[in-house]
Amino acid sequence: MKVIIYPGSFDPITNGHIEIAKKALESFDKVIILVANNENKKARFTTEERYEMVKEAVSDEKRIEVYYTNGLTVEFAKKAGSPYLLRGIRNDVDMEYENKYAELTHKLDKSIEFVYIKASDEYASISSTMIDKMAKEGKDISHLVPSSVVKRYKKR
Ligand code: ADP
Repeated sequence: MKVIIYPGSFDPITNGHIEIAKKALESFDKVIILVANNENKKARFTTEERYEMVKEAVSDEKRIEVYYTNGLTVEFAKKAGSPYLLRGIRNDVDMEYENKYAELTHKLDKSIEFVYIKASDEYASISSTMIDKMAKEGKDISHLVPSSVVKRYKKR
C-alpha cells in the first residue's frame, strides 16, 4: 500500500489543504495528515485544536488519516514506514520556502522523497493567515474552510 504523509501546521486547515490531500489520493492509497508544529510560526490554535478541526473535516474520507506530533516529521515518517512527504505549492514564495524545507529535511534524513502538488487557481490564494484575519474581522469564511473551522472560530 502506497502511503504519503502530509505534514503542516494546519493553523487552521483550509479548503486549499484539503484539495491537496484529495488530489494525492489519485496517486497514493492513503494520505496521513500530520499536524505538526512549525518552529518559525507562533500557533494560533493548540495542536489538539488543529488536530480536531482536521479530523472532523476529513471524517468522510476513509483513505485520509490524521495524526499529530510534537516531534520531528522525519521521525514520524520512519515509524510510519513511508518516505513520501506531500507539500502544496501555491506560488513562487511557496516554491522557495519548500526548497529550503526540503534541504533541511534531507539533512536529517536523505531517504525522504518530496511530492509536490500545485494548488488550483480557485484555492491558490487561500492561506491560514488570511482565514484568521478574515475571521477576526467578522467576515464570512464558510466557503474557504471546512465547517469544523467555522465552528471553532464561533466558539472563540
Ligand atoms: P507549514 O507551517 O508546514 O508551512 P501549512 O499548514 O502552512 O504548514 O502548510 C502546509 C502545506 O500546505 C505547505 O506545503 C503549504 O505550502 C501548503 N498549502 C497551504 N495552503 C495551501 C493552499 N491554499 N493550497 C495548496 N497548498 C497549500
